[in-house]
Amino acid sequence: MMKRKIYQFSAGPAVLNEIVLSDSAKAAIDFQSSGLSLMEMSHRSKPVESLFQETTDLVKNLLNVPSGYHVLWLQGGASLQFAMIPMNLLSDDDIADYADTGLWSYKAIKESKKFGHVNISSSSRLSNYNYIPKTMEQNAQSKYLHITSNNTIYGTQYKEMPEVLNPNGYLIGDMSSDIFSRPLDLSQFGLIYAGAQKNMGPAGITMVIVREDILGKIDRDIPSYLDYKVHIEKQSLFNTPPVFSLFVVNRTLNFLRAMGGVKEMEKINIRKAGFLYAEIERNSLFTSPITKEDQSLMNVPFVFKQGRDENHFLSFCEKRGLMTLKGHRSVGGFRASIYNAMPVEGVMALVKTMQDYEDIKG
Ligand SMILES: *Cc1c(COP(=O)(O)O)cnc(C)c1O
Repeated sequence: MMKRKIYQFSAGPAVLNEIVLSDSAKAAIDFQSSGLSLMEMSHRSKPVESLFQETTDLVKNLLNVPSGYHVLWLQGGASLQFAMIPMNLLSDDDIADYADTGLWSYKAIKESKKFGHVNISSSSRLSNYNYIPKTMEQNAQSKYLHITSNNTIYGTQYKEMPEVLNPNGYLIGDMSSDIFSRPLDLSQFGLIYAGAQKNMGPAGITMVIVREDILGKIDRDIPSYLDYKVHIEKQSLFNTPPVFSLFVVNRTLNFLRAMGGVKEMEKINIRKAGFLYAEIERNSLFTSPITKEDQSLMNVPFVFKQGRDENHFLSFCEKRGLMTLKGHRSVGGFRASIYNAMPVEGVMALVKTMQDYEDIKG
């Protein structure tokens, strides 16, 4: 098997496990010794139907999905979910709470305003989203409370999920960048969603888990593809699905299960992030812009304490095979995304590089 010489710290599309990559390369040429590429195979064929079933079962197993919930595989990314959620769940007169904790939350808010009323229950916008607000002003009539569990750009993460004020309401979570990174109590949620390309696979496929009883409550005429009930009925095979992307998700989840599942993965993630945050704190050159208690285990932004040449540090890293560490333009500095597939050796290589840089520049 290939051994890669680089570590990919991109926020997304993000690092994939090496075994997953070589399994996928094989399936791209000859799927299960059928002589066909998986990309040439009908989504109505038995092997592809089983692939969908097996992947769905893996999700149910890994996340302990309670009965009454459906796992769906859709296209359009998390961005389409920003619109599909209010389209399916809010009528024109309804209201929903949204916590504004970053650019992605903000985009979700923008879409939901097209279908109903939005109450922004909390916001950390004025401090450039560097913390998770702990208090909220929810509307007692709200259908749901939408949160972004991990803020990919700013590097903040909910450590505990907020309570919903309306006893008939439910949580909705954009979990694009921390799905499968830790255990999850789905019973608080009416719906969660995640684009695959951060923590579970390549772009082109989006996972939605939805509780059936929240659907069918409004009488808007919804286009078929955008109607969750259609995908439930068709078991995510309403039209031609992204089979190859799903295969990569399948291999990733199989690998996660072999590692011991999300509980074990959380331990590893805490350890990995711990090494990096400790170095950011220790190193005289760098600092974290994020309130400590809200620091993400997945996306770790850090900046120079004093104005220095950021490009110089980035090329210092690249020479050592540490790629895509440039921070998002709205935060600046650097960002290391250390998703499930980032090995601890990658994090240690970054820590060592920060130490060496301090020796030269400090
Ligand atoms: C990347 C990301 C998105 C956007 O995902 P697309 O699949 O590109 O639409 C939305 N929310 C979060 C939290 C993200 O990290």
